[in-house]
Amino acid sequence: MLYIVATPIGNLKDLTFRAVEILQSVDLIACEDTRHTKILLAHYNIKTPLTSFFQHNRFSKGDYLVNLLAAGKNIALVSDAGTPGILDPGYNLINLAIKNNLPMSFIPGAAAFVNALVLSGKPAHEFYFGGFLPNRTQARKNLLAKFKQLGCTLIFYESSHRILASLDDIGEVFVGQEIAVARELTKKFEEVLRGTPKSIQERLIKNKPRGEFVVVI
Ligand code: SAM
Repeated sequence: MLYIVATPIGNLKDLTFRAVEILQSVDLIACEDTRHTKILLAHYNIKTPLTSFFQHNRFSKGDYLVNLLAAGKNIALVSDAGTPGILDPGYNLINLAIKNNLPMSFIPGAAAFVNALVLSGKPAHEFYFGGFLPNRTQARKNLLAKFKQLGCTLIFYESSHRILASLDDIGEVFVGQEIAVARELTKKFEEVLRGTPKSIQERLIKNKPRGEFVVVI
């Protein structure tokens, strides 16, 4: 069985009882960065062997893991944070397992965009999750203009070094729109800033933007 196990997005206590049981009992845990996942396992005194499965070894390691699954081993797939498969290499292993008709089960838990959507107070009955916005301004503005046509809540992931530039572009495309920017979700310095992109930008500049961000429009 391939167990797809969601892990915390910051607060180590956000791991379910079932996730702990499965991480303890599987033969192997496939993770993005073994150093990162070791911190979580140490917190729960889990001693299961780890193997890395990340962007650059996803094909070779994917075949290896599928062979182990086909031979009857139980493997847990985790990512650095949150739900495997949501913008991380987990997606590749899940698809490979599907192609090979291997059984799988998902142990639910945190996903950063869900926390941000709920805390934003924006309508959550219809939303579009757009992952990461493009790096370049023009491409970003074009994509934002396209998504604007959807007329529903929009959610994006963003990094600390790009958040200010993205807020510039969001302000230009969504004139007068109040948005929410969530950072450090579930962590000690969790913060949700609500208002126009400009006003949020001004508040972020004061303390130099730090951490990981989710933007909800
Ligand atoms: N698999 C993850 C999930 O379930 O949300 C997402 C992985 S993606 C590579 C990482 C991005 O998620 C970060 O750049 C950030 O935008 C967002 N993110 C993850 N943890 C977060 C947190 N604690 N607070 C705010 N955003 C977070």
